Amino acid sequence: MKLVTFTHQGVTRTGVVDGDQVVDVSVADGVPDEMLALLEGGDATLEAVRAAISGAPRLARDEVHLESPILRPPKILAIGVNYADHIAEAKDSGMQVPEHPVVFNKQSTSAHPPFDPFHLPRASHVLDYEGELGVVIGKRCRHVPRERAEEVIAGYTVVNDVTVRDWQLRTPTWTMGKSFDTHCPMGPWILTADEFGDPHTHDIKTWVNGELRQSSNTKNLVHDCFGLVEHLSTSFTLEPGDVIATGTPGGVGIAMKPPKLLVEGDLVRIAIDGLGEIENGVVAEPEGTVRIG
Ligand code: MG
Repeated sequence: MKLVTFTHQGVTRTGVVDGDQVVDVSVADGVPDEMLALLEGGDATLEAVRAAISGAPRLARDEVHLESPILRPPKILAIGVNYADHIAEAKDSGMQVPEHPVVFNKQSTSAHPPFDPFHLPRASHVLDYEGELGVVIGKRCRHVPRERAEEVIAGYTVVNDVTVRDWQLRTPTWTMGKSFDTHCPMGPWILTADEFGDPHTHDIKTWVNGELRQSSNTKNLVHDCFGLVEHLSTSFTLEPGDVIATGTPGGVGIAMKPPKLLVEGDLVRIAIDGLGEIENGVVAEPEGTVRIG
């Protein structure tokens, strides 16, 4: 199933994409209208969703606004230097194949819809894209051995780990440069794991204004999805709705010669074979975004 969070006539709720329609399954008994609650319901709730598809009302895709499938993930974890081709292109900055996964957080407030533009920040214009496979956790878990990792994965989504490079690299930890508001577009849905199959066999591509920039396959992950679940859950509890952005292939803008950073008006499309695609424009961060209270 393609699980979405969508807004129609001002009301945001959960749904399932079926072709060019969104099935409004949240009207059914036992189907929460909020994605975190839906995921926390586990297998029984997913069955209720599945059962609701045939009888629930349908809306045309272009009638609704797709939101980030999880509006506010409990955690957005991300993995650096996790594709061999990206490590090769970044060797000038001292990157090597890491013995241990390089883990950082994107703040949950960076979650952003799959087709809405993200910000070129006022603070920096050194803006880059990173197309990535996202793992969505479906069960609260700790100390998950890799051979049981599939039991705790609800599904997969496409992520753009948008990065402000100078803010990322000017300090030892990357949090500030990875967490600007709007800098984690994801979606367009959570494809349930049963429909994605082996997550390590899928082409992943990123285009900027139609120019292919990244082209790899998830088989090239250094630390794969299941190993990452094992590793992360050794330290802390993973919760339903947590997202793991598994790392970016080669072809990021900063590594091009000369660098091709994102500018206002650019359009970034990321597609993962068998999963889906997201497409986001780049807009100047609006004036008047000082917010207190
Ligand atoms: Mg990344």
